[in-house]
Amino acid sequence: MTTPTEGLTTCYCGSKYWDGNICASCGETASAGTTRTDEIRFEVGKRYTTGAGRDYVWEFTILKRTAKFITILDFHGHNGATKRVGITVLDGIEMASPLGVYSMNPILRANREVA
Ligand SMILES: [Zn+2]
Repeated sequence: MTTPTEGLTTCYCGSKYWDGNICASCGETASAGTTRTDEIRFEVGKRYTTGAGRDYVWEFTILKRTAKFITILDFHGHNGATKRVGITVLDGIEMASPLGVYSMNPILRANREVA
């Protein structure tokens, strides 16, 4: 293992430090995806909403993430429950379905950050 060095690309977890091809923080392998800077991603520590205009609006904070999954904290009760949800990308924006996939399920979008 060599000393991690700061690279030009940012890992999905937010780290810029790489040990060769491996992220020094989360162990993720650098992939083509990590070099995309135009993609809007979920960021650790930030809070996102499923969006207004629905019967119910949910908010979730990103606790940690990998390239394909986010671990989120549910802000609406559930006793601080956390869950791991898969990420999909549509039109360069990351999305996740924290309540599961069903008809009209609420979708978390990385461009709907709660201030
Ligand atoms: Zn990482």
